[in-house]
Amino acid sequence: MTFNELNIIPDILKALNKANYTAPTPIQEAAIPAVLEGRDFLGCAQTGTGKTAAFSVPMIQLLSEEKSNPNARRRIRSLILTPTRELALQISDNIKTYSQFTDVSCTAIVGGVSQKVQERALNSGTDIIIATPGRLIDLIDQKRINLQHVKILVLDEADRMLDMGFIHDVKRILAKMPSKKQTLFFSATMPPEISKMVKSLLVNPVKVEI
Ligand code: AMP
Repeated sequence: MTFNELNIIPDILKALNKANYTAPTPIQEAAIPAVLEGRDFLGCAQTGTGKTAAFSVPMIQLLSEEKSNPNARRRIRSLILTPTRELALQISDNIKTYSQFTDVSCTAIVGGVSQKVQERALNSGTDIIIATPGRLIDLIDQKRINLQHVKILVLDEADRMLDMGFIHDVKRILAKMPSKKQTLFFSATMPPEISKMVKSLLVNPVKVEI
């Protein structure tokens, strides 16, 4: 299987070639077509499997294709929630790599850095937000962020968010988004609390265990 066979747009193929990605990993082969079709996705996968590209490549493609619609501009259309600042910054770097030849933009919203810088990025308009729950809740409470236009939600390392005590924050964030959206859910393990979330959030998902 090649990335070409997965119907990826030339602007993204060019970036993947430049990054020396020759073939999709198994989770990418499963997730990319499913996400492009608009399906919900459940991936039981660890870091190192290529899961970041599995959700971000089709996400960038969907956002890029929608960009011609003027209403789509300057609105947060995708949210990626992740447990740690390091992971958020890593995902942000990857998305910048994959989207470098498109007009899709992303911003990391994490604690430990100046909120002012993040606000400036938000004010100038961004398509994708990659956030840790704590800082995102702060910005929501200050009404500096509007999640009403989110169409694609990614929960990354959901089991770690549970372990780190973020589940209450995550549930509060979920309540700020439209219920009709595409949800991509990744977790290495499926404890009961996570299974419950999966059941309430995902509609007829494509499931992959790596
Ligand atoms: P992840 O599991 O998303 O953290 O990815 C693990 C590492 O694999 C990262 O350094 C990615 O840049 C790299 N990677 C992801 N997909 C591919 C691919 N299809 N070909 C080569 N490297 C990849």
